[in-house]
Amino acid sequence: MAIRVGILGYGNLGKGVECAVKHNPDMELKAVFTRRNPDSLSILTEGAKVFRAEEALSMKDEIDVMILCGGSATDLPAQTPEMAAHFNVIDSFDTHANIPRHFEAVDKAAKESGHVGIISVGWDPGMFSLNRLYANAILPGGSDYTFWGKGVSQGHSDAIRRIKGVKDARQYTIPVEAALTAVRSGKAPELTTRDKHTRECFVVAEEGADLKAIEEAIVTMPNYFADYDTTVHFISQEELMRDHAGIPHGGFVIRTGSTGWNDENGHVIEYSLKLDSNPEFTASVIVAYARAAYRLSREGQSGCRTVFDIAPAYLSPADGAELRKHLL
Ligand code: NDP
Repeated sequence: MAIRVGILGYGNLGKGVECAVKHNPDMELKAVFTRRNPDSLSILTEGAKVFRAEEALSMKDEIDVMILCGGSATDLPAQTPEMAAHFNVIDSFDTHANIPRHFEAVDKAAKESGHVGIISVGWDPGMFSLNRLYANAILPGGSDYTFWGKGVSQGHSDAIRRIKGVKDARQYTIPVEAALTAVRSGKAPELTTRDKHTRECFVVAEEGADLKAIEEAIVTMPNYFADYDTTVHFISQEELMRDHAGIPHGGFVIRTGSTGWNDENGHVIEYSLKLDSNPEFTASVIVAYARAAYRLSREGQSGCRTVFDIAPAYLSPADGAELRKHLL
């Protein structure tokens, strides 16, 4: 029988999960739950239905894993522990500093209810975290680097939209090629924030707005732009829709280090992602971990996990013999 999946929250990530489930024949989308009017959403999966979020509990016996697709800022800190009291759950919580607190809350709820929760699944946190861990364990005396982009930063785009006179905006984070080259050389350079990334902004201004003032407000904005070399381009709404509608992202996790009695041999470990669609890729990672949650739960395990705690074979639909034959 297929693993029966529920989706709570139908934004970019929720839609991505629906697509990812389609590509995994051992999974089946049972239902989508939303805080909005269910009739206002049209989903793509035949046979699945949209329900109000409050109706989720009445479908406890029909869903093996609930995938939480709300936002990290306010949705997931409440929704994941709430749902872990009734379902096996997965989320993509990405506020790095608050992961330990979120873990505690989900762990408590999941242990009490006898379910499994896997949190902070995606690419960062997620696949990037795993690659940082592997590289750290292998080269203990080395140096770590993470570069993001080129990609759209939703948070930075939102920050620009809040400036007076701005109608719409898209912000790209771009790694500095010279910094990447220096890191890959194995010389372990010390890099400042400004050395590593630049920021490029495409802004649609309201008619008659003071463009100079908008640009100044962007490039001097503390925490978001002031520490970076930032360029601002003013474009029309049509150009924004035509050229900047996608949600690409990606980046690089690199660790350099050395081995040998006198550290005579250098090594570079690099993992990179180039994603046309950040939410669809994140969703694909989540769905693989949903399989793991289901299996762990069937084994009688409970409590919260992160990507660090899940053995890789649990992610694959193939069994151990097949994996040993084809992928080892
Ligand atoms: P969205 O803003 O698209 O969706 C978040 C929630 O908002 C949805 O679940 C939905 O809930 C609600 N929503 C969506 N569209 C509308 C709308 N038109 N009107 C009103 N409400 C709406 O966020 P994303 O799906 O892009 O991202 C979700 C989270 O994923 C992010 O906050 C981020 O933390 C995380 N993420 C993690 C990554 C990782 O690598 N770990 C990578 C990328 C993202 P409802 O249906 O209930 O209304």
